Amino acid sequence: MPTFFGKKTWTISDIYNTTQERQFKSVGCTVNYLGVSRSVKSTSILDKWKSLFFRNKSLMKEIEVVFSFQVISNESGKTYPVKIQLLYDPFGNLIEAGQIKIYCGCPDFKFGSAYVLNNHDALFKSEKTDIDLGPAITTAPKKKRDGILCKHSYAALRYLIQNYNQLMSYV
Ligand SMILES: [Zn+2]
Repeated sequence: MPTFFGKKTWTISDIYNTTQERQFKSVGCTVNYLGVSRSVKSTSILDKWKSLFFRNKSLMKEIEVVFSFQVISNESGKTYPVKIQLLYDPFGNLIEAGQIKIYCGCPDFKFGSAYVLNNHDALFKSEKTDIDLGPAITTAPKKKRDGILCKHSYAALRYLIQNYNQLMSYV
């Protein structure tokens, strides 16, 4: 299990292997896959240093893929957008120890997940999501809850893991 207050960067398996209760709740969601986009990861100073050291810039290129979903809660009928960003693996395998970034548009995610995920470098960010989440990114949640993710983002992540090969064929 991941530690909530450690500063470790969370991986897919850290986030996915949360409590049973959340997995049970996410069953009551319908996941619609909307599409995927890819982009070459912006180069950090460390990456620049590495590329100089290894003298092979192509090796250092990392491609991010962002999957978009629409998740409907069967209970409330409410629909929320979910984004999941992964690093593209040219071999087509899901790297469970790989980095992941997640976003959901629901209040439960905003006030229960955003802060914790951000602390572990696992919050998906864009101009739009930054505006939507606002101070929730830097404000600790008032109460601790049973899992890291809201049920929508958990359902989307499960869908992504179960249909990974098919979804990657669209990339
Ligand atoms: Zn949600």
